[in-house]
Amino acid sequence: MKQILFSFILGLLLLNKPSQEAVAATAKTPNIVIIFCDDLGYGDLACFGHPTIATPHLDQMANEGMKLTQFYSAAPVCTPSRAALLTGRLPMRNGMCSNKRRVLFPNSNGGIPKNEVTIAEQLKRAGYATACIGKWHLGHHAQFLPTNNGFDYYFGIPYSNDMDRVNDSPKGRGAFNDPQVEFWNVPLMQNEEIIERPADQTTITKRYTEKAVEFIKSNQDAPYFLYLPHSMPHVPLFRSEAFANKSLRGLYGDVIEEIDWSVGQILETIRRSPAADNTLVFFTSDNGPWLIFNEQGGSAGLLRDGKGSTWEGGMREPTLAWWPGTIAPGSVSRQLASTMDIFATASEMAQVELPKDRILDSYDLTPVLQGGPSQRKAVFYYRGYRLMAVRHGDWKMHLMTQDAYVQPQPVKHDTPLLFNLHEDPSEKWDVSKEHPNVVKQLTEVVQEHLKTAKHAESQLEK
Ligand code: MG
Repeated sequence: MKQILFSFILGLLLLNKPSQEAVAATAKTPNIVIIFCDDLGYGDLACFGHPTIATPHLDQMANEGMKLTQFYSAAPVCTPSRAALLTGRLPMRNGMCSNKRRVLFPNSNGGIPKNEVTIAEQLKRAGYATACIGKWHLGHHAQFLPTNNGFDYYFGIPYSNDMDRVNDSPKGRGAFNDPQVEFWNVPLMQNEEIIERPADQTTITKRYTEKAVEFIKSNQDAPYFLYLPHSMPHVPLFRSEAFANKSLRGLYGDVIEEIDWSVGQILETIRRSPAADNTLVFFTSDNGPWLIFNEQGGSAGLLRDGKGSTWEGGMREPTLAWWPGTIAPGSVSRQLASTMDIFATASEMAQVELPKDRILDSYDLTPVLQGGPSQRKAVFYYRGYRLMAVRHGDWKMHLMTQDAYVQPQPVKHDTPLLFNLHEDPSEKWDVSKEHPNVVKQLTEVVQEHLKTAKHAESQLEK
């Protein structure tokens, strides 16, 4: 009896005590922040060459940190790209893609599968406080929401801001040219409750920023993970009064300049916090610019095509990494890297073991952030479940191509197209005939990859 009582008391004590792992994490592991834009193009920031959009805070972030010029999202559209970022896995492995429906819609019943492990779930194991503030788009039914996928807190619009279009809004593109909040009945959620509908999108970037700053300030003692997926600059474009009609680039520029302000607010809050030199911040985007919206869409700069396509403009993102005291100021990495690599990087930094029961597509970026080589040797470009292209070193080979929105079916290339991305970043000159050995080598890389490519059932077709 005494022994049972002793075990019971010991059990109670252990329950109340944080694990050794959590205690160790609190002492030395870095805070991790991911600022994730929606449909931002490779050429849309001043520090990536835009001539008229002013991004002083992002330029400062680049001057104090690292610019990554060969950094990719894992898909050219929202839902699969976000699923891959958070799980470190290609969308075909977790079913967060489809050849029929490219993303989740308000009438979708699917979402991120329960057995997937998110970065937030990994970091929770190390005692991190976690928040998702912004656009989720991995399922809006309760079981799929951030608060059921490792996040302590959620504030944001659960899918794209152009969904739930109201019937009597102007037809076609008319609604986007002069967007009004009431044209879209999108909900704003806090945790699992709808708190506003339609969401007032004019203040959405501002409110995401305020919530993010509040989260950072209230977690000064424990390590935290902040995932801040902005709803902007996905159309319809909205910005708050303070940024209206300010940018030389028009409405799209206003929106980017407000995001730039937001980055400034967040970095300044971190600089003033006790963890000023122990916080890693990534800034990137889920996919390229939505070019069919003309001046309402962004620019991929010198890269070909944009959102929806597996040409470079669809998946190569303007990326910055910032960690004062650890990342060399003003550094540039031209190493291959992917949003999926943040999963392994965050896990390594928090000293949490990677899941061993599944294939991951994630490599620890620590050496890259220190100016060294990448462990990633290849990038695979998927459109739904279709493998369209592969990049290996400076070479990219297209098995199939399909323009973002204007070509109904993919074109299969019996002799794949080959481009040297270092010499020809715009993918203008197919050199497959001149380099048959490179085509052969990349074909072998594809064959090796396909051995591991088991397609999960689509969540987007449910
Ligand atoms: Mg997007």
